[in-house]
Amino acid sequence: MKTVAVLLAAGNGTRFGADKTQIDLAGRPVWRWSYDVFATHPNIEEIVVVAGSGNLPILRAELGPSAVIVPGGATRQASARIGVEKAREFGDAVLIHDAARPFVSHAVLDRVMAEVAEGRAAAPGVPVADTVKRVRSGAVTETLDRSELVAVQTPQGARIADLLQAYATIGGKETTDDLSVLEAAGSPTTIVEGETRNFKVTLPEDLLRAQAIAGRTESRTGIGYDVHRFSEDASRHLWLGGVLFEGEIGLEGHSDADVVMHAATDALLGAAALGDIGVHFPNTDERWRNLRSEHFLKHAVALVREHGWRLANLDIAILAETPRIMRQALAMREAIARAMAVEIERIGLKATTNEGLGAIGRSEGIAAFATATIVRP
Ligand code: MG
Repeated sequence: MKTVAVLLAAGNGTRFGADKTQIDLAGRPVWRWSYDVFATHPNIEEIVVVAGSGNLPILRAELGPSAVIVPGGATRQASARIGVEKAREFGDAVLIHDAARPFVSHAVLDRVMAEVAEGRAAAPGVPVADTVKRVRSGAVTETLDRSELVAVQTPQGARIADLLQAYATIGGKETTDDLSVLEAAGSPTTIVEGETRNFKVTLPEDLLRAQAIAGRTESRTGIGYDVHRFSEDASRHLWLGGVLFEGEIGLEGHSDADVVMHAATDALLGAAALGDIGVHFPNTDERWRNLRSEHFLKHAVALVREHGWRLANLDIAILAETPRIMRQALAMREAIARAMAVEIERIGLKATTNEGLGAIGRSEGIAAFATATIVRP
């Protein structure tokens, strides 16, 4: 079964007074938190983002041209339906999620997906802490049995065919969530264990709670170092930071010998304690011979993302007597940011000579240091 996430970011925030999904939470907009959770789950085929007219250009700019973004409808249900219809192009099951729930976890996704795989529509739910009473005109008409109540969260999961059939069955009848569509159409649904931190940012006080949680982000730092000697082969090209230095003699090595990319890759792998470049790309393996080193960095980025990490920043120091490095600093930062799929502001780079001291000072080679800081909720 192929599962597609439908991220609902089309709400107009009437209860909040602003588009709450765009509010910054420790460096990422609210919607991006759950987007990244889906993006890093190994069993999510595609993410369909359902945008509002106000935030569609922002989401497009943030996610790039290859992202699947569709304009939403007038109501939550209409937007969900548009998302589900789009999702049909990529898979046969959906997880519909409110972009205003930033702290959904892979564990919750797994529990919902396990039910859907068994043919049951499902949503996470948590026990209701408060006693709930039914009230008419201020007078209590009933006190509900709390043990039978759950507060339902998202993602709500179902087979696409079942949901589309249910939409058709109920016609224009409005519901407040996706399981209700199936229930109204007479299909059984189930609740799996949710998490209290998977709450929805609905009111301004919810945002304070979200910021407190986001601020507790775990961070780790890794260091990378690499050095290669200049080649005696005058036909070798000099690659540094993913940039070709025209007319300069290259460094000796199995791959393109890009010390900057190698140090960056090791810093990133080191931060996540995932070994080093030699473990993942042994130089005894002919597949890596003369390969451009940006592939190593891209692979390392994919690995750390699978572990839930994202890059906070990468900083590089290059030690080289020659050539002059800094004239290509911007191009190197751009190439590294592109390989890591992050904004260029997260990549620092500087260079120094070694004041004539030692092997680097004698222009026998080039060395690079890098530090990477990675974060996860
Ligand atoms: Mg190396």
